[in-house]
Amino acid sequence: MLKRSNSYSYSYGRKSNNNLKIFGIIGLVVAIVAVVVFLNFNRIRALVKGYNFTQANQIVAMEGEAENEILASDFMEHFDIWHDLEATPVNYDDYEKYYELFQDYQPSEIVSYVDELNGEIYSQLEELGFDHDGIWAMVSNSASISDFEYLIDNKLSATQIAPYLEVNGYMVKNMKAYIEADKTNNNPTYTVGITNYPFILSTAEYSGRGYTITNPDEILTLVKAGFYLDNSYEPGDLVEAPMPIAPDCENPLVRQVVADALQQMYEDAKAEGLSLVFNSGYRSYTVQAQTYQDIETRYGGLYASQYVALPGASEHQTGLGVDLTSQSVVDGTRITFGDTAEYKWVLANAAKYGFINRYPESTSDLTGIAHEPWHFRYVGAEVAQEITDANITFEQYCLENGILPTVVAR
Ligand SMILES: [Zn+2]
Repeated sequence: MLKRSNSYSYSYGRKSNNNLKIFGIIGLVVAIVAVVVFLNFNRIRALVKGYNFTQANQIVAMEGEAENEILASDFMEHFDIWHDLEATPVNYDDYEKYYELFQDYQPSEIVSYVDELNGEIYSQLEELGFDHDGIWAMVSNSASISDFEYLIDNKLSATQIAPYLEVNGYMVKNMKAYIEADKTNNNPTYTVGITNYPFILSTAEYSGRGYTITNPDEILTLVKAGFYLDNSYEPGDLVEAPMPIAPDCENPLVRQVVADALQQMYEDAKAEGLSLVFNSGYRSYTVQAQTYQDIETRYGGLYASQYVALPGASEHQTGLGVDLTSQSVVDGTRITFGDTAEYKWVLANAAKYGFINRYPESTSDLTGIAHEPWHFRYVGAEVAQEITDANITFEQYCLENGILPTVVAR
């Protein structure tokens, strides 16, 4: 019995001993895991974010502010690039942001730009009232380091330049000029446009290299000396003007939207007993260049510069500019379109169909082109009505509304 009881108690005792051991081991394992996790917490966070073991180790090795900054940010796709460049770890998130904005830049360029921005420049900008979002809004608008230095050197505050930062196409280097010009203009949009591109309201004397338009298909693209169409640009939807075409017309094509408007206008005029005739539409860059040269040879440079657009600067290349005439002029009973009943009717009604008289009388100092009663430009009915009602040029409309072509320097 005793033996048995001993044996029981022995066996019981052994079992209880085993349980203790198990609890002990579990406790130890938990403790070890806790210590391991504690010591590797940031490494694990890095792994969870998506970094590999090597990267996680590199992050943990940074310690302090840089380590925390990287772990607080989203996974950085180009971590290896920055790490290989031995770039400043606290700026890694800004490198990423910049890389997203300007993917054409070399990583080394990105690093030196961001490092310079985040140095003394950043705190000086803060002193002028700029916050992080404001600074990065300028960064995303391609502000250079010298742009920021310009703001600092001229002590231009965030409040002072705020109205111009709202305008598409602003240039930081022009801020002082904007502030000055806007004292009379009182229209930041207008001010930015005319300051960036003074030739918009200039005469044909313009001789700068100018800009190439990168959105030539836009119905409201302003084309003139300074804003040039590429020599290869040709609209993709040219059709023949659906109305009588003058016998000596060599370019009867217009864009589809213009053709539709012309057809309506022609028919409505006809219903009133008037005979409009189409005289000229799309002209290629090459043809415009020849035309300019011919006129220059025949009538001289001054005449050519007043009456013929430079190659690339003609609205005829957009397929949106048209020259109109009348049957009476074609027949020779009237000498110029400007003297006809058709002309008077078109002047009064063109806006309804989306056309404006592009080079009205006494506006050559604004358009750079002498009065051309025959030349109309399609801009759509709404804009045409607004321009006609306000009795302004297309140039003024574009400036007031900030509708300027997107361009690259030639
Ligand atoms: Zn014309």
